[in-house]
Amino acid sequence: MRKLHSGMAAWRYIVRSNSGRKSVETYLPLILSAAGGLGVLPFAILRFLQQQWLAATIDSIIVCGFLILGTYVYRTRRIRVASIAIAVLSMSGVVSTVYVIGPHQIYWAFPAIMAVFYLIGPREAIVATLLTVVSLLPALLPSSDSHETTTILITILVTSAFALAFSLITSRQREQLLVLATKDPLTGAGNRRGLDAKLTEVVNAHRRNGETSSLVLIDLDHFKKVNDLYGHAVGDQILKSITEIINLRIRVTDSLYRIGGEEFVVVLEGADLERAVHLAEQLRLLVDANELVPDHAVTISLGVAEIKDGETGNDWLHRADEALYQAKDAGRNSTSISD
Ligand code: GH3
Ligand code: MG
Ligand code: MG
Repeated sequence: MRKLHSGMAAWRYIVRSNSGRKSVETYLPLILSAAGGLGVLPFAILRFLQQQWLAATIDSIIVCGFLILGTYVYRTRRIRVASIAIAVLSMSGVVSTVYVIGPHQIYWAFPAIMAVFYLIGPREAIVATLLTVVSLLPALLPSSDSHETTTILITILVTSAFALAFSLITSRQREQLLVLATKDPLTGAGNRRGLDAKLTEVVNAHRRNGETSSLVLIDLDHFKKVNDLYGHAVGDQILKSITEIINLRIRVTDSLYRIGGEEFVVVLEGADLERAVHLAEQLRLLVDANELVPDHAVTISLGVAEIKDGETGNDWLHRADEALYQAKDAGRNSTSISD
C-alpha cells in the first residue's frame, strides 16, 4: 500500500514537474465532461421544444452533471472522485434514456463504455459495464428484432474488449514509464527524481502531522582511486554491491536513492535521529567489513540529519550534505550528525 502511495506521489510529481502545472492528468475528465455535456445539450433543447418533459429533464440533468463535474475538475484538479462520478453519470445516463426515450438510445452506450474504461480502473470498468448491460436487458430483449438485439450486445462486448485492452496497455506503459523515470538503471535504487518526490511526500507529512523522519547521505571514499586502480566495470560492481548491502539492512519504511555517481541517500520515514545514526553506523561497518575488492578497503562516509520544522526537502538534504563533508574532513570511513 505504501509502495503504491509512493508510486502515485512520484507519478504526480513527474506529471507536475514536466508540465509546470497539474494539467496533463486532468485533460481526460475535462474532455469527456465537455464532450458529454455538449453532445447531450442539443437533445435536451429538442426535447423541451417537443415538450417531452421527462426526457428533457433527464437530458438536462446529464448536461448539468457534466458541467458541474467539468468545473470541479478544472477548479480543484482533483480527478479521482470526479472520474468515478463522470463514469456513474455516463452509465446511468445511458440506462435512463434507454428506458425513458427508447431502445434506439443504446447508441450512447458506446461512447459511455469508452469513457468508463479510460476514467476508472479496468476491474471497476468491467463491473460498471456489466451492471449497465444487465440493467439494459429488460429494455432490449422484448424487441421484436432479435437480430438487432444480438448485434447490439455483441458490439457492446467488442467495444468493451477494445477499451479494456487499451486501458490495460496504457496503465502498463504508465508503470514502465514510472520505473524508467524514477529508478537508477545501474543499481535499481531510486534516482534523483524519485528522491525529490519522496522528499516532497515526507516534508508534507511532517508539516501535516509533525511526523519525524531522517536522512542518511552516503558517499564512497576515494572512489575515483578505486576506478583508476581496478577499472570502471569493477567500480560499477561495487556500486551494485553497496546497494545490495544497504537494501538488506533498511526497513520497508526506508527507501534508497542513488543521486550523483557514488552518492546514495536513505530516507527513513517515521524515524528519529537516533535510529538513523544507528543505521548509518551499521552500514558503515558492514561496507568496511565486506571485502568488495581484494586487498583494498572500500569505505563510506555518512551524514545524518533529522527533519526540522519549516524546512524544505532541499534544506534538509543540504544539512545532511554538510554533515557528510564533516565526516570526510574527519578522515573518512565515519558518520557525522547535523544538529
Ligand atoms: P571522496 O572520498 O572525497 O568522496 O573522493 P572520491 O574520489 O570518491 O570523490 P570524487 O568526487 O573526486 O570522485 C567521484 C568518482 O566517482 C569519480 C568517478 O570516477 C566515480 N564515479 C561516479 N559515477 C560512477 C559510476 O556510475 N560508475 C563508476 N564506476 N564510477 C563512478
Ligand atoms: Mg566519494
Ligand atoms: Mg561524491
